[in-house]
Amino acid sequence: MAVPKVAPRSAVSELASLLVSPEIARLVGELEATRWTGRPGYPIRTMVGMALAKSLYAIPTWTRTVRLVGEHAALQAALGCPGKVPSEWACYRFTRKLREHSDALARCLDRVTAGLHERLPQMGANVAIDASDMAAYANGQRFVSKGGRERDADEYSDPDASWGHRSAVSTRKGGGFYGYKLHMAVCADTDLPLAWQVETGRRNESSFAVPLIDAVRARGFAAETCAMDKGYDLAPIYAECEARDVRPIMPLRASPDVKRGEHRPPTCEHGKWRFAGSDAKRGASKWRCPTGECQPASVWVKADRLHPLIPRETLRWRKLYRGRASVERSFGRLKNDWALAPLRVRGIERVRLHADLTVLAQLSRALSRVRSRPTGRSSRPVPQAA
Ligand SMILES: [Zn+2]
Repeated sequence: MAVPKVAPRSAVSELASLLVSPEIARLVGELEATRWTGRPGYPIRTMVGMALAKSLYAIPTWTRTVRLVGEHAALQAALGCPGKVPSEWACYRFTRKLREHSDALARCLDRVTAGLHERLPQMGANVAIDASDMAAYANGQRFVSKGGRERDADEYSDPDASWGHRSAVSTRKGGGFYGYKLHMAVCADTDLPLAWQVETGRRNESSFAVPLIDAVRARGFAAETCAMDKGYDLAPIYAECEARDVRPIMPLRASPDVKRGEHRPPTCEHGKWRFAGSDAKRGASKWRCPTGECQPASVWVKADRLHPLIPRETLRWRKLYRGRASVERSFGRLKNDWALAPLRVRGIERVRLHADLTVLAQLSRALSRVRSRPTGRSSRPVPQAA
């Protein structure tokens, strides 16, 4: 096996260890079984390695990935292509092949998340969901020039991209953007993606919360809580979460019932009633008179958007809601450290493949790091360097 002798944790040795991992090796095997070798005959393992290298080195284009590999003998050795670097055209042909065999890639992602779950049993218990904008590699202006004629439908270079709204992040203002949205569910304890979906920019995030929770559960994670921002604060999302035994953790929008104060705890002449625990089977939370002088001294409040089973007044809710930051961190890492952005492909299927390959590189490196750690510490969260 061509594993180069370099210092541990170098990108080259990490790439080499990813390629020999059983999860990736099986993807290579499944693609080889399709009897496709890729003209002019680059091994599948080399091509999968090129895709991983592109993300590991955070390179936005194939052209520059090919150039980097061409300049580095150690990389060529790790990829098993000494002196014979695949061309960018071979890379394009390979991505087309991967799109045709997206089921093999999906199974590979399932294996990687399962491998992580095995090492990190608490992974996926607390989930955070959000969406992030990905600007299209295309011009979305309606007019061909300032004051010029309107663009025809066939003149948009990326017909799948659309205008959407993005919320403010840090000091950046919210506003319109043209492109796609990555909807993602992340493990709040490890910051690792659990399930994700690329959709055109105009689709609203609230439609994807429940499908993402279902995808997380389908991967075998026992989600217990799910933190989301106000954009998801809708009664049906609460109900669908509870139906799956997942406690929704969301702040309230200023809807008319909230303005009327209907979300507040019960009160009496003795003051504001105190939370006294929830019963998930009963679907209600218990509240008690602060002095116990009232008759009855406690009441059950049926769970809904205004009165969730983990009430917003509790420390537990605040702690879980802080976990929502994990999904923001995860978007930032994927974009800045793994070259999820800027997009250099057009069309939703290509953007989806780009997102899948980017997350595959990140997750499989996380798995490789967890595996290389001494045993006995396996229940600790993955250290998220870069
Ligand atoms: Zn009272």
